[in-house]
Amino acid sequence: VLPPKGKPKWLRVKLPTGKKYTELRGLVDKYKLNTICASGSCPNMGECWGEGTATFMILGNVCTRSCGFCGVKTGRPETVAWDEPEKVARSIKIMQIKHAVLTSVDRDDLKDMGTIIWAETVKAVRRMNPTTTLETLIPDFQGIERHLDRIVEVAPEVVSHNMETVRRLTREVRIQAKYDRSLGVLKYLKDQGINRTKSGIMLGLGETEDEVIQTLHDLSAVNVDVVTLGQYLQPSKKHLPVQEFITPAQFDKYREIGLELGFRHVESGALVRSSYKAHKHIL
Ligand code: SF4
Ligand code: SF4
Repeated sequence: VLPPKGKPKWLRVKLPTGKKYTELRGLVDKYKLNTICASGSCPNMGECWGEGTATFMILGNVCTRSCGFCGVKTGRPETVAWDEPEKVARSIKIMQIKHAVLTSVDRDDLKDMGTIIWAETVKAVRRMNPTTTLETLIPDFQGIERHLDRIVEVAPEVVSHNMETVRRLTREVRIQAKYDRSLGVLKYLKDQGINRTKSGIMLGLGETEDEVIQTLHDLSAVNVDVVTLGQYLQPSKKHLPVQEFITPAQFDKYREIGLELGFRHVESGALVRSSYKAHKHIL
């Protein structure tokens, strides 16, 4: 397959606008708040921030893993900042976020894999922002139940863990992860009573339609509630190349199939990111 040349028109994005966006942008710059939305220049900022949703990364910005699609730096992560939970909670308060998505790098270097900071952050956010709802987009914590239990105990409204790709490409796309382990994490969360579980995959990495549909079946079999499908874009030349630009019609087709399979929400579109329209997923 020849790599596609130039971005198709449906991937061209407008600059974020809106009163709420401008106001939040000012606060983020003034207080140096750390959102993935702004640091990753996400195309959905106008929309998400306008609706009071933003994504915050915890546990530093250096990851112990090296997924082929991900723009986060790999290496030896920083030491844990024990004041981070308070800082994140304060950022959410300053930005008056109604629905916050928390995510982290993978901390395979830590004995608790970062789960203590994870739980403390959820608690601090709840203390300081009692009406804010939360989604925790978590790593696999190597599938270890006692680590996952820390998340279950603080009961975020939504817990998500991304498959990222189909079974065949998992080794290439996220080398330290395993397809079945990730499915097992999603199953465990649901079995422990998490209200809404969620997962996402990126398309355009060379997967076939049948493989995508199989992944949707696999997610449905572990009772996942929400699925997101978006176009993979290469963060730099060193990352996996884009094999294909998925057409809007194909995204629509996957949405239909997903809804038929019984998912509560299916966000499917070129610019969809895992936290896009996240505030809707608590319902
Ligand atoms: Fe932020 Fe996620 Fe929305 Fe992008 S899709 S603006 S990262 S909440
Ligand atoms: Fe990026 Fe997450 Fe993979 Fe780390 S584990 S490289 S943050 S996708």
